[in-house]
Amino acid sequence: MDIKPAISSLDTIVSLAKRRGFIFPSSEIYGGLSSCYDYGPLGAQLKRNIKDAWWREMVQKRQNIVGLDASIIMHPRVWEASGHVAGFTDPLVECKKCGARLRQDHLPEGGVKCSKDGKLCEFGEPRMFNLMFRTHLGPLEDTSSLVYLRPETAQGIFVNFGNVIDSTRVKLPFGIAQQGKSFRNEITTRHFTFRTCEFEQMEMEFFCEPGTELEWFEYWKTERLNWFTNLGVTPERLRLRPHAADELAHYSNACVDVEYLFPNGWSELEGIASRTDYDLKKHSEYSGKKLLWKDQQTGAAFTPYVIEPALGTDRALLTFLIDAYKEEEIEGNPRTVLSFHPRIAPIKAAVFPLLKKDGQPEKAQEIFATLSDRYQAVYDDSGSIGRRYRRQDEVGTPVCITVDHQTMEDQTVTLRDRDSLEQVRVKIEALSGTLFEKFGF
Ligand code: ATP
Repeated sequence: MDIKPAISSLDTIVSLAKRRGFIFPSSEIYGGLSSCYDYGPLGAQLKRNIKDAWWREMVQKRQNIVGLDASIIMHPRVWEASGHVAGFTDPLVECKKCGARLRQDHLPEGGVKCSKDGKLCEFGEPRMFNLMFRTHLGPLEDTSSLVYLRPETAQGIFVNFGNVIDSTRVKLPFGIAQQGKSFRNEITTRHFTFRTCEFEQMEMEFFCEPGTELEWFEYWKTERLNWFTNLGVTPERLRLRPHAADELAHYSNACVDVEYLFPNGWSELEGIASRTDYDLKKHSEYSGKKLLWKDQQTGAAFTPYVIEPALGTDRALLTFLIDAYKEEEIEGNPRTVLSFHPRIAPIKAAVFPLLKKDGQPEKAQEIFATLSDRYQAVYDDSGSIGRRYRRQDEVGTPVCITVDHQTMEDQTVTLRDRDSLEQVRVKIEALSGTLFEKFGF
């Protein structure tokens, strides 16, 4: 089957995101700041739900994975040990005519139009540019106080390996997971929130016995792909792209990208890498502290191998937004709908009184209060019922609950399903059970 992106242009999502409060340009009243974005009311909730869904799947449901929340600023030696100070670089080229600076490996085929003369840019030799943001800890701005904003969350996990095994009862194989901000001074940021300088990551390091790592690598490939499809991403728009031998880092013995079919083509959504014992060994060497796993039965001590699934939270959010977007026609009327999986939908339920009288608003408020104690719901009494449905469809609310005159007589409400458009009447006392059965919340 010839599978197409869910939308033909990212502009569709950029404008919906702005209009409905998912994502705004940062510092917009000052003209915006290139490549920085702010999550609006619905975006903040959506992001929270995505992070919760990941945490639930990766930590909460598993007995052998624990969580961590390391600081963004770490000892600068961490980044020397990890290789980031010396090697976390991209090739930067500059046009001799207009001064445009671009990443050499991101240059489009056919060249770039020069803003000076309209011909093609003429780039000089590439310079290696380190992507780490630098700052200073304390009042002195000299090399002794130089620190970095972390470019990935993973190293916070490796340096806490010893603390975690000393303070918990984990047994090999086990994982340590964390979510948090990362910073990269990207030369070219583009495609909305796909590549930005400040972003969030959700990473897990899965430590295992050397020799078993490729089995675990296969396991995590399947698990991670399933996470996206279980949350409603179209399976045909996901694929695994194994890295070729010449693409692999020297310490890695397998790596795959989970790719999604974005409007601009297939691109990396998540990376899954088998990183051998490289990171733990490097930190042992640089810190002088042994980072070993000791087998209780045999007494043998060794450095575990590691599999790392690393996902960008913002890129995941962009994927969920794009994949959920649909324009449909219902009984001759157009509607825009975000068909979010109920688990990640920012608003789970909207409660409406049909009329602003006869006790209907009060009854609807009562239902709202019960539901909003458990999750994000909204109360809306403005405009026609049809318009209220459209408003909720456009932000992906799975169910609308309407209180009408019949409610006041028999204590029933109407549930309207976003996707099937089916409407059913249920008793208020059975509402929670029905919502849980139908939508899982
Ligand atoms: P690339 O090669 O595209 O620069 P990468 O392979 O270096 O990315 P990783 O270091 O593997 O990326 O990071 C893991 C994940 O973090 C990526 O799959 C992506 O989802 C996310 N990520 C990385 N860099 C950015 C960024 N600048 N903006 C948003 N998300 C990012």
